Amino acid sequence: MIIVKSNNELMEIIAVEKIAGKTIGFVPTMGYLHEGHGSLITKAKETSNYVVLSIFVNPLQFGPNEDFEKYPRDFERDRNYAELLGVDLLYIPPVREIYPTYPALTKVRVDRLTEVLCGSSRPGHFDGVTTIVNKLFNLVQPTYAYFGLKDAQQVAVVTQMVKDLNMNVTIVPCPIVREQDGLAKSSRNVYLDEEERKQAVILFKSLNMAQNLLKNGVRKPSILVEKIIDQIETSPRAVIDYVQVLTYPNLEKVSLLQPGDQIIIALAVKFGNTRLIDNCIVEIGS
Ligand code: AMP
Repeated sequence: MIIVKSNNELMEIIAVEKIAGKTIGFVPTMGYLHEGHGSLITKAKETSNYVVLSIFVNPLQFGPNEDFEKYPRDFERDRNYAELLGVDLLYIPPVREIYPTYPALTKVRVDRLTEVLCGSSRPGHFDGVTTIVNKLFNLVQPTYAYFGLKDAQQVAVVTQMVKDLNMNVTIVPCPIVREQDGLAKSSRNVYLDEEERKQAVILFKSLNMAQNLLKNGVRKPSILVEKIIDQIETSPRAVIDYVQVLTYPNLEKVSLLQPGDQIIIALAVKFGNTRLIDNCIVEIGS
């Protein structure tokens, strides 16, 4: 595995691989890798012949009172894991390599899709995401880029950006990887204390409960939201940021679900200072 820290070196290596006819599979991450990231790398290994993993904690997507400084980092562990999974090139640029001018003067913004869910709780977050993803796509020139549905809104936003800007890359959405008890794997799970960790499973349970209500014929999003809130509120440490049911991937409100609709049930809940997100995407049956 080659480890690269500079944009120029990265672009030179990629150019050689492209001339050799390789398809480039790209997995952008912020590191502190876990099996969720691992599943994207494995998928990339299966479907591309040269796999690039980036680790970059992107300051532009963190709000002023968020956890940029204390975001967990462990380069040694990440490097070993990436090597084990067969990553060909690990890209770990310093902040000044990516942003010679900070704050960035040029940003990429997707409207509307970024104004709901995490976009409304974290103003500017998705501008940071689309800007860094755009820059990384320009550097890596991937054939395929792999994103986890753990961040389903991010998948919708990035897919829209690629379409609107005619970018020559295919976005590959990958399923959510969970802990044994159902909690979605996340680098931020390490922040949870023992009690919070135990209670955090309520997110997965409430999503399952909502899916059962759908199976039993409930068709009003407002009822699903109400029941999910009721269930999450049984966890004393949980503070709800949002629970919403929207169409997916358009992220529009809907008052009554119809057969064939694809929806996302999305939630963000804080346990102490740790904000967790989870979701499920469901196709409404007849
Ligand atoms: P992050 O390092 O949190 O920015 O995540 C990098 C990529 O890994 C994103 O595309 C995430 O959606 C994806 N990812 C993170 N956690 C999971 C998970 N539990 N299952 C699947 N993909 C994930």
